[in-house]
This record gives sequence, C-alpha cells and structure tokens, in this order.
Amino acid sequence: MTEKVLKAIKTERKRQDDKWGDQSGNHPFEWMSILGEEFGELCEAVNETCFHNPTHPEKGGLDKIYKEAIHVAAVATALAEAVLQTPCTD
Ligand SMILES: [Mg+2]
Repeated sequence: MTEKVLKAIKTERKRQDDKWGDQSGNHPFEWMSILGEEFGELCEAVNETCFHNPTHPEKGGLDKIYKEAIHVAAVATALAEAVLQTPCTD
C-alpha cells in the first residue's frame, strides 16, 4: 500500500514539474503558498465527502480525497527538496 502511494506521489511530482517547469528556485514561502492551496483543495474534498450537507458534492468523493492528498504530498516533497537546495538565508 505504501509503495503504491509513494509511486503516485513521485508520478505527481513529475507531472507538476512537466506542467510548471523547473520551480526548484522557489523560496520556501512560495512553496508554502502552493501547499496551502493544495491543502485547501484537500479540505474541500474531505468536507464535500464527509459533511451531511455538501454544497458542491461533485468536489467530494474518495477519489478526490486521494488525488488531493497526493497533490499535498508532492508539493511538500518539492518544498523539502527546495530547502535542501536553497536554505532560506535571505
Ligand atoms: Mg489539487
């Protein structure tokens, strides 16, 4: 199970690089902003799935929760990589 998820995170990490180009120079603040957006999408997916009165049920479902959790993990991975490459000293 863990290997399946880690593989999905790696695939998503590559998809994001292919979509947005090399973002390795991003400051940690930039990564935190992107991570915040993805975390918000994950929260929305959970809320629309688990609350009894969803307002946008099309944004919920276990598949959406899984997808957004992978997005969060991939962005957090990019953030961790950026910190290794460019410590925030400025
Ligand atoms: Mg997302």
